[in-house]
Amino acid sequence: MPAPALEPDAIVAPSPARPDDPIVLSSLTHDYGSRLALDHLSFSVAPAQIFGLLGPNGSGKTTLFRILSTLMVPSGGIATIRGFNVAKEPAQVRQQTGIVFQARSLDIKLTVEENLRHAGHLYGLSGKHLRARIADVLERVALIDRRKDYVETLSGGMQRRVELAKGLIHSPAVLLLDEPTTGLDPGARLDLWQYLRMLRDQEGVTVLVTTHMMEEAEYCDRLAILSEGKLVALGSPDELKSTIGGDVVLFETETEHAAQSLAARMAGRFEVSPTVLGNTVRLERENGHRFLTAVLDAFSGEVRAVSVSRPRLEDVFIQRTGHRFWTEATDGSAKEKEGID
Ligand code: ADP
Ligand code: MG
Repeated sequence: MPAPALEPDAIVAPSPARPDDPIVLSSLTHDYGSRLALDHLSFSVAPAQIFGLLGPNGSGKTTLFRILSTLMVPSGGIATIRGFNVAKEPAQVRQQTGIVFQARSLDIKLTVEENLRHAGHLYGLSGKHLRARIADVLERVALIDRRKDYVETLSGGMQRRVELAKGLIHSPAVLLLDEPTTGLDPGARLDLWQYLRMLRDQEGVTVLVTTHMMEEAEYCDRLAILSEGKLVALGSPDELKSTIGGDVVLFETETEHAAQSLAARMAGRFEVSPTVLGNTVRLERENGHRFLTAVLDAFSGEVRAVSVSRPRLEDVFIQRTGHRFWTEATDGSAKEKEGID
């Protein structure tokens, strides 16, 4: 007996945008023909924050990224960056915004410096000012000594840092990154996050980063969680986890049918509303260990394995949507190994 998913509107309290919020979405909607990719998203991002957009594949992250980076006009609603409407004032938005795409956008046959020079020209920078800017951004991403090297000779992590430098060349106040750590090894991933924090702390840059990785979402100051184009949760990682009452308790049974049956009887006996996920019964409960013992006493022999844990971000997703973050068809770990979106 799966617990019904809560209506997102009931959970995500609208918080009015402040005048200095650099990114504001108001009922932002996008469809690709009959497919609704973004469904009336409203939220805002405060200055000098690392704001994460977390969602499984297909939840609409790249669609939102494309709209904010002015590559695509939304079908409905409004998005502004530093007060400029992304659909109507794209030139102003681009001046304010640095963009780091998920796919590589560097010319690997050119040197690091040449790539940055081209990027600078596109933003109208040149001469002494551009040279100083290139040195500055390369210093920041610790690649100044590689500036004469061809991009193809750099490691994946270094190439990502060049992408970051390229996104920063025109000193934007807002930086947008689409799944920036895809394909990077864990060390390079941590490195990139360190650079994002430095930009936030030393330059006051507002960073919006999309990710499908829960562990990365934990590094963000604030998160919007998306599911099928809808906003299902908004808050800091700690705030979101604390909305889950107590511990997360899991009972694994032999079959899905056994889990359904156990959940139904547990609900009758203990006045709880468990969720069934495959062959596992899941619920949230204060004093999880005590509850676990009571259940095992009542239904001994039916349970194959048990666990009690503190809530994680995935639990927030399950609570808000009634399903797991990853379905088998969109398993994140498998995709990550292949290094694809
Ligand atoms: P994410 O980046 O979170 O994986 P996307 O924004 O790429 O999600 O996709 C959101 C939804 O829109 C998905 O259902 C996807 O199949 C669909 N979609 C994305 N791009 C296109 C497109 N160019 N044409 C049609 N459908 C698209
Ligand atoms: Mg994407």
